[in-house]
Amino acid sequence: MTQQAQAAAPTIAVERAGDHVGRVVTIRGWLYNLRESGKLLFPIFRDGTGLIQGVVSEKEFPEAFAALKGLTQESSVIATGQIQPEPRAPGGYEIQVQAAEIVQRVPESNPYPIQLKEHGVDFLLDHRHLWIRTPRQASILRIRAEAIRAARNFMDEQGYTLTDAPIFTPAACEGTTTLFEVNYIDDQKAYLTQSGQLYAEATAAALGKVYTFGPTFRAEKSKTRRHLTEFWMLEPEAAYCQLEDMIRLAEGLVSAMVQAVVQNRARELEALGRDRSKLAKILPPFPRLSYDEAVKILEKAGNPTKWGDDFGGDEETLLSKGFEKPVVVHRYPAVMKAFYMATDPEHPDLALNFDVIAPEGGGEIIGGGERQSNYQTLVRRIREHHLPEEAFQWYLDLRRYGSVPHAGFGLGLERTVAWICGTEHIREVIPFPRMLYRVYP
Ligand code: ATP
Ligand code: MG
Repeated sequence: MTQQAQAAAPTIAVERAGDHVGRVVTIRGWLYNLRESGKLLFPIFRDGTGLIQGVVSEKEFPEAFAALKGLTQESSVIATGQIQPEPRAPGGYEIQVQAAEIVQRVPESNPYPIQLKEHGVDFLLDHRHLWIRTPRQASILRIRAEAIRAARNFMDEQGYTLTDAPIFTPAACEGTTTLFEVNYIDDQKAYLTQSGQLYAEATAAALGKVYTFGPTFRAEKSKTRRHLTEFWMLEPEAAYCQLEDMIRLAEGLVSAMVQAVVQNRARELEALGRDRSKLAKILPPFPRLSYDEAVKILEKAGNPTKWGDDFGGDEETLLSKGFEKPVVVHRYPAVMKAFYMATDPEHPDLALNFDVIAPEGGGEIIGGGERQSNYQTLVRRIREHHLPEEAFQWYLDLRRYGSVPHAGFGLGLERTVAWICGTEHIREVIPFPRMLYRVYP
């Protein structure tokens, strides 16, 4: 092939190969795998959008053959050739390679550490910067991106304005045991935010309906498959809204995220072996249980939970068993909830809150509710929780100046995406997980 012909070939994304059947095109990527069979080579290329098998004939294209023969896994390569349908190949097409340029050859003496075989998870996490190149991990990250896009579109369409919350904060909002302390300027102490909620309450009083979306931090000492120390949360907050409004918003948001992935990321779900028909059923309304009812279900199932206990992962999995959709559990005992929660006027010992628990053992993906809008009650709650009153003066201003009933919730992105993807552990659904004892790479 002449250099001009090669230069004239359009560069395409592997995922679009089907649009270019019969044409000579260029793909730029990496060598995923190579099978050699006498005078034929069968390289598999990946370009980040997908995998495509190549076929190279020594007789027809000796230079391309020589360039690719013996090429090491993950060497970077630019290949030009004709696209043909090939039902037996991954993706359904192959590229009949006419020319290949090696951009960087991985030396044989120091081969790519992740082979196409099973590795232990600690090894993979140590090599997370490379692990994300594997098709499964790339599919998960694309689904994550799709879920974020869908979530933001949904919120925007519902008339909510994105108002980002700060990451350095002067105080806790979700309990002091999971706070990350930071040495701020001149030895002043600050904390990494555990939730954008308190700030969303301020922006909601300014703009009406708002949401924040950003990283949040919790020094969780619990080593579970559902906890990261750094995770992303989407937190809507709306003035003049009540518990019921927020439950409906949550149902719509979760459904919009799931349906966007079902529609736009079918290939990725298939790569993960995830049953799309189960996800297709995730549409509002969701079943509901009061906390009281949930405790009864647990007791019946032989679980030791008693009224007043919080639910852990096992209880959440048990509760989700009876449902194909996420289940909304509402009105927990007020004593176990955060200081800012409003209580039910008809049952003052119950909080006006709700959690959404994902099916198939996905666990709690949303927690939210109505906020305490009464100044005196809020001050009392801050004292009861031994929180530093000084740091909350700005927050109390929201109750001094035009306090209104308002409500909101926090959706944990990784929990939601892990459920959608059907991954066992949420560490796979964030590019670089931060966990107890892991901040590398
Ligand atoms: P859990 O009881 O499961 O630890 P939580 O009740 O402390 O969670 P909330 O404060 O209600 O969590 O936070 C809202 C949402 O953020 C949760 O429903 C969950 O989806 C997500 N979330 C909370 N903590 C974590 C974490 N450590 N890692 C990942 N996601 C989390
Ligand atoms: Mg919660």
